[in-house]
Amino acid sequence: MKKHLKIHLTGAVQGVGFRPFVYNLAKEYNLNGYVINDTHGVIIEIEGDEKDINQFLISLQTKKPPLAHIFSQEIEELPLEGYKDFEIRKSESKGKKEVFILPDISTCNECLKELTDPHNRRYRYPFINCTNCGPRFTIIEKLPYDRPNTTMKKFKMCPDCEREYNDPNDRRFHAQPNACPLCGPHISLYRSNKKLISEREKALKDTINLLKEGKILAVKGIGGFHLVCDATNDRAINSLRKRKRRGEKPFAVMFKDIQQIKKYADITDFEEAIILSPERPVVIVKSMPHTDLSKGVAPYLDKIGVFLPYSP
Ligand SMILES: [Zn+2]
Ligand SMILES: [Zn+2]
Repeated sequence: MKKHLKIHLTGAVQGVGFRPFVYNLAKEYNLNGYVINDTHGVIIEIEGDEKDINQFLISLQTKKPPLAHIFSQEIEELPLEGYKDFEIRKSESKGKKEVFILPDISTCNECLKELTDPHNRRYRYPFINCTNCGPRFTIIEKLPYDRPNTTMKKFKMCPDCEREYNDPNDRRFHAQPNACPLCGPHISLYRSNKKLISEREKALKDTINLLKEGKILAVKGIGGFHLVCDATNDRAINSLRKRKRRGEKPFAVMFKDIQQIKKYADITDFEEAIILSPERPVVIVKSMPHTDLSKGVAPYLDKIGVFLPYSP
């Protein structure tokens, strides 16, 4: 028997690849209708065989994207509409805004693989992201979470990015901040007097050299500015303390990877799991004695705050 249901979901369901997931699920169970973001969450209308609809409802809960959290689900049965296809509709923006927006998510392993692959078109591209990772909260100007409502609206996608964005089988299907070196933002390095020093790959190389020289840099990253310097350089650390007027409070140290952290800190399996979690938090762990880290990082302490990069 055919049925037509309207499902209203609330929770962390925007910016987590939920609509593409629903789209693929509807196709899998031969259901027609649509999915749309609204200011409360996600609305789905599906029409098809009752047994397929039941399977769809189960999969909606059990196979949902890793970052999605459904807080509530309301289902309403409607008269048959005769939908011919399943589509992702443009969002509605009326009504009170209640949707839960996810925080920025650290770069996922698949994106990291592309980032380090010389044959990939996003090789060493610092703004790489996909449906499962990248900025959310930082780039949203208003709801619902769609590209025109984010700071990415300035960047028109190139044909390759556009194709990924529109392909339901691509992991960047409807990834709102989708970008590449051709069409997306790029990095620039400025002197403190706002004079431009360099851009793109050159800016990255210059930054590394400046850090090695013991300079302090402000990196405009996801979520705000981040002051960085070489944690093994006493002079740089002391100068950062003076400038931040931060007496003896410890600094957190960013490491390249978990192997590097293990050379500087004695961590448990549990601590390792937290360090590697998608939020990439600062974790206070037991530091190893006699490393080349500056004593000024965490004076008089045998503990150290460590974390991994949360964006390239
Ligand atoms: Zn990713
Ligand atoms: Zn592009």
